[in-house]
Amino acid sequence: MSAAADNRSTLPDGGGLLGNQTSWEGCLYDGSWRVAAATVDIVEPATGAVLARVGVASSEEVNEIVATAAAAQPSWSASRPCDRAALLRRAASLLEEDRAATVRWIMRETGGVEAKALFEIEAAIDELHHAAAMLIEPEGHLLSSPDPGRLSMAVRVPLGVIGVITPWNFPLLLAMRSVAPALACGNTVVLKPDPQTAVVGGVLLCRLFKDAGLPPGVLTLIPGGAVAGEALVTAPQVRMITFTGSTAVGRRVGELAGRALKKVALELGGNSPMLVLDDCDLDAAVCAGAFGSFFHQGQICMATSRHIVHKQIVGAYVEALTHKAAALRVGDPTHPDVAIGPLINSKQCDRVHRIVTSSIRQGATLCTGGMHDGLYYRPTVLANVVPSMPAFHEEIFGPVAPVSVAENDDHAVALANSSEYGLAAAVQTGSLDRGLRIAKQLRAGMVHINDQTVNDLAQSPMGGLGQSGNGSRFGSFTNRDEFTEWQWLTAGALPKRFPF
Ligand code: NAD
Repeated sequence: MSAAADNRSTLPDGGGLLGNQTSWEGCLYDGSWRVAAATVDIVEPATGAVLARVGVASSEEVNEIVATAAAAQPSWSASRPCDRAALLRRAASLLEEDRAATVRWIMRETGGVEAKALFEIEAAIDELHHAAAMLIEPEGHLLSSPDPGRLSMAVRVPLGVIGVITPWNFPLLLAMRSVAPALACGNTVVLKPDPQTAVVGGVLLCRLFKDAGLPPGVLTLIPGGAVAGEALVTAPQVRMITFTGSTAVGRRVGELAGRALKKVALELGGNSPMLVLDDCDLDAAVCAGAFGSFFHQGQICMATSRHIVHKQIVGAYVEALTHKAAALRVGDPTHPDVAIGPLINSKQCDRVHRIVTSSIRQGATLCTGGMHDGLYYRPTVLANVVPSMPAFHEEIFGPVAPVSVAENDDHAVALANSSEYGLAAAVQTGSLDRGLRIAKQLRAGMVHINDQTVNDLAQSPMGGLGQSGNGSRFGSFTNRDEFTEWQWLTAGALPKRFPF
């Protein structure tokens, strides 16, 4: 327990799904709340107040909880799909009912403004509805059979126990997008949220699903860092890992999972470009660019990380973007007129500042921002950014808009594609035809014309190319591919005869 516990802050409303805090504090969840050997404080980034304390799982505790999840899986996968769908819909209703209390928790635990928290809840509710809807879809194919007396089918079967590892930026949504479809498909889940946001990223989901009627052991919780994460990835009974986080850690997770021949879905970092063409609506492009770079302080994998602007309009674009950025209010996100809250921790803040200052030293022009007060980083616009600068080629994960000049469309595409990442991209243009032509040349898992780069819908496949992932996709029809595997099943009423 840290000394900061004396600084405990009570949430405005102690009720809702996270009410009766003492019942889950310092615990892991295996179907009931069990006291963990170690704990960590959840610290509000905006104030430094301690909001709660959660359990941190050791390797031994991870293995015990994985065994619980494995034991619960056969009966869960044998449950009726319509019952699983009803449970997911009940969870969606309970989350709707708890919206006000959950919004406050998200704002305080992640440092996000109300719009961020509302978006996250809506998207998590959509994931639940979408997962429920999967269960009225076909579960396989009837195949042609050479023997008229035998049926031949390809059916999707659950994988077993799925380990879900999530980051701190959208902890509820990024957990839900794996947990809901994994449960729908008859798997059990061991959830390992980032320890900085383990309340909305973990405790909340366990309380929600328990209240919705989920049997014990079907969803379990092991908050923790690398030790808990690696124990989960290497636990023999875990058949699949879904990992959302940085490319560096994703590579390690992929290596460990690959060695054990496990399925692994990696949703990793990004450095997403927005191409601003000379025929665009400049005001709309500037609004999109500001939102894409500054929403949730730029701490979004799909954040608009590079503004690639045609040379004829770059002056006007930079001027308008600078004006907009300078006017955004920075401060405690619980204040209604604040647009930019704190960064999650001082390590992230140091990283953002290092990228900004070294890019300026290498010749980038600081138009606004470039400074911080504690974790509050001012929205920053950098002009004249070129590919050799860290602001161009590194993932920033902060409220920074680097602007680069493109000579023409081909140059814009070449700049956009000159990144190891390939998560999202956007094009601003007055010509849909020109936009579609450019979209086809962009190396990105998600491309949006006349929009910015941050988009996430339960019914659309989300994921990236290159160093942004390993080809996995979450959302839409791809969920069944990710969270089940094929089984070829043949059956005949009579025994088959053989020559010997
Ligand atoms: P991170 O990689 O540091 O941590 C992610 C998760 O991995 C956390 O739960 C962490 O505790 C765990 N972890 C750390 N070391 C581990 C190990 N050795 N084995 C197993 N688990 C381990 O990432 P972060 O800083 O929390 O999140 C920011 C990163 O996540 C950014 O790069 C961002 O782009 C990326 N991200 C990607 C998406 C996407 O959908 N592609 C979404 C959100 C965030």
